[in-house]
Amino acid sequence: MRNKAEVVIIGGGITGCGVAYNLAKMGLTDVVLVEKNFLSSGATGRCGGGIRQQFTTEWNIKLAMESVKRFEKMNDELDIDIEYEQGGYLVITDDEKELEEFKKNVKLQNKLGLDSKLITPSEAKEIVPYLNEDNILGATFCQSDGHAYPFRVVQGYAKKAKEMGVEINKFTEVKSIKKEDNKIKSVVTDRGEIKTNIVVNAAGAYSREIAGMIGVEMPNKPFRHEILATERYKHILDPMIISFKYGIYFSQQKHGEIVGGIGDPDEPSSYNIKSSLKFVERFTSVLGKIVPAFKNLNIVRQWAGFYDVTPDAKPILGYTEGIDTLIQANGYSGHGFMVAPRVTELIAELIVDGKTSMPIDELNLKRFEGETVGEVYVVG
Ligand SMILES: Cc1cc2nc3c(=O)[nH]c(=O)nc-3n(C[C@H](O)[C@H](O)[C@H](O)COP(=O)(O)OP(=O)(O)OC[C@H]3O[C@@H](n4cnc5c(N)ncnc54)[C@H](O)[C@@H]3O)c2cc1C
Repeated sequence: MRNKAEVVIIGGGITGCGVAYNLAKMGLTDVVLVEKNFLSSGATGRCGGGIRQQFTTEWNIKLAMESVKRFEKMNDELDIDIEYEQGGYLVITDDEKELEEFKKNVKLQNKLGLDSKLITPSEAKEIVPYLNEDNILGATFCQSDGHAYPFRVVQGYAKKAKEMGVEINKFTEVKSIKKEDNKIKSVVTDRGEIKTNIVVNAAGAYSREIAGMIGVEMPNKPFRHEILATERYKHILDPMIISFKYGIYFSQQKHGEIVGGIGDPDEPSSYNIKSSLKFVERFTSVLGKIVPAFKNLNIVRQWAGFYDVTPDAKPILGYTEGIDTLIQANGYSGHGFMVAPRVTELIAELIVDGKTSMPIDELNLKRFEGETVGEVYVVG
């Protein structure tokens, strides 16, 4: 392992590997990435792979739209099949008030150039013929939303970054960060010390622990989020279906299995990563009401991961006041996979050029000193 580097990236999920790739692409290859486990072992490898641009805040809409442009070219750029499909996202509701909100949200999305639209229950049924439209008052649909295979994306970023000269160290845990006069001096791992001035905090739900190592307080909190995969079924579902009111989302994968999760409003913040029967019961009962054909499917696997939740459900990006060279790239809540391609490019620009092609000041950690506008379209 190198004992010095211009940049040390902590975390080997989509953020860490994406930043490594984008730095190398911009010519900065004196970079070491450290991951305490295997690549994608955090939230990235546990996520649903959903890529949605239908949000309620300009920031998330813009970051997701820009990321979709990058996902569309990723197979060629990273030389790997990321199993990207744009089957759309169907957002359903059975609630008058939520439907009114949908109208406002679609207006904002359309203003920013997104191809989302408000549709009737029968139009939703045309998109998903097996949908039980009895309980639906309306929906929104965006065809360019979709999903991809997270492990492949990370593998692609990591392989390309390594080819360009970045060193990636798996099973290497950061234990502390040394600083002098508010300047970072080195990162201490269980496999040795790396002298550096710049650290990228891409440790997902552990970002607050990393920041805490040099006395920086972060508002992010970890929340368990559970998810499952069923046996394979004939292909009947193109879009991801999502209901924010019930906190459920599910899609049918390339090989026919249904992958989905449901948030639990009673889940406390913790590092509990166990699976529960309560989750299976809640998920299957709501799933069966939306698409009755899926009611009797067998579950083949269930697992859990952490949402890295900020008070406004928007990421924390950029410099850290007081210790400028600690660069934050975390706090995505439940939607980091879908915005990471653009986010990681912006972080690389910040490090290499000292400025970004899209201003990210409003996403700085400092924003929590004042009032922030929260994202509403969050699962969980
Ligand atoms: C069940 C579930 C479903 C989800 N579904 C979606 C979805 O459909 N679409 C979407 O966009 N998002 C989804 N998300 C959110 C998404 O997974 C995350 O926002 C995203 O993967 C975050 O990526 P990351 O690289 O920032 O963090 P992570 O993937 O968590 O990576 C952080 C890495 O840092 C490492 N690390 C931590 N501490 C240390 C240390 N001390 N030293 C070294 N390494 C360390 C961890 O091991 C980890 O691998 C979901 C999340 C969960 C849990």
